[in-house]
Amino acid sequence: MTSVFVSGASGYIGKHITLQLLNDGYTVRASVRSTVKADEVIAAVTPHLVDPNAINSLSFVELDLLSDNGWTEALQNIDVLMHTASPFTIDKVKDENVLIRPAVDGTLRALRAAHAAGVKRVILTSSVAAIQGVELTESEKDYDESNWTDVMSPLGSDPYTKSKTLAERAAWEYIATEAPEIAMTTINPSMVLGAPLDQNYGTSVSVLERVLDAKDPAMPDLAFSIVDVRDVAAMHVRSIAMKDAEGQRYIAASDAITFIEIAKLLKRTFPEKKIVTRRAPKLLMHVLALFDGQIKSILPMLGKPVRISSKKAQSGFDMKFIDVETSIVETAKFLVAHSGK
Ligand code: NDP
Repeated sequence: MTSVFVSGASGYIGKHITLQLLNDGYTVRASVRSTVKADEVIAAVTPHLVDPNAINSLSFVELDLLSDNGWTEALQNIDVLMHTASPFTIDKVKDENVLIRPAVDGTLRALRAAHAAGVKRVILTSSVAAIQGVELTESEKDYDESNWTDVMSPLGSDPYTKSKTLAERAAWEYIATEAPEIAMTTINPSMVLGAPLDQNYGTSVSVLERVLDAKDPAMPDLAFSIVDVRDVAAMHVRSIAMKDAEGQRYIAASDAITFIEIAKLLKRTFPEKKIVTRRAPKLLMHVLALFDGQIKSILPMLGKPVRISSKKAQSGFDMKFIDVETSIVETAKFLVAHSGK
């Protein structure tokens, strides 16, 4: 039976990947930072298992991206490394290394341990942040897998964008120079939505929560592409057996939508809720950004159309991405049902 190591199994995406792996008959060794998190993962995936006995194929190891402890032993007898762990926040951080160090050093720790253990297949969770933090040239219509964020440019310099770009770069570099026998695939999702498996959901779901809570007096003029968490997990799992995916990057993205369209969709879905649908003037956004890191991080994207192509995944994986309205409504219904929103 193929054994898969999943780092960051306690994450929003990590739990969905763990669930799909178990439902597809894989043996999963999951890394978490504490035993409490192991219990959390078991509680989250168990209700969704097709065969309840599959939970016996799940085991845990405690690892930290910032420490060497345990990595080498943890990767023994593993066939596939799925490295999803990385800190994800769009809040302002005082020191960018709080994100960059675990992202880059953690990726290299996982790869070195995998290499030492003879693991030949790696699936890495990267991001469109590692792709679209650079201006397109005049001849380029959309961002695709050939684009790389320039961390020295204004579009690529926010700490999270840097952390994902430098981590993915370091991974390709390590494999090219130190471990050519490893076949790696990166999955580069856009903003991930879709019902979480428990209430410990990450940053992307909390952005939708913000709209549901009417936290802002108006909606930013911001469009972004969305992908459903089940599609992201499916791409990770299906990569394992896809020979053509070796050595490739794949953007995971469904359609684009604006904040105002999201707010209107939520207003239609929950007419009783006080949801703000009016557009925020640009000046207001700049003022709010002085006090709010989440707002500051989106300023460069205001008013710009989304130009990102997931054609490679659509043909390579035969993906028909779940439509964005379904992902948004299902996420919002989860939030309303579980958080009393
Ligand atoms: P979460 O915050 O839910 O998950 C992050 C995971 O990384 C958690 O398991 C967390 O562990 C773990 N982690 C963070 N820091 C460390 C550390 N120092 N040592 C060990 N583990 C650590 O985020 P998502 O599920 O949304 O993100 C998962 C991956 O997907 C990340 O690589 C992210 O960059 C990427 N991604 C996410 C997108 C999105 O919209 N959600 C879009 C594109 C890419 P713990 O539970 O202990 O905190």
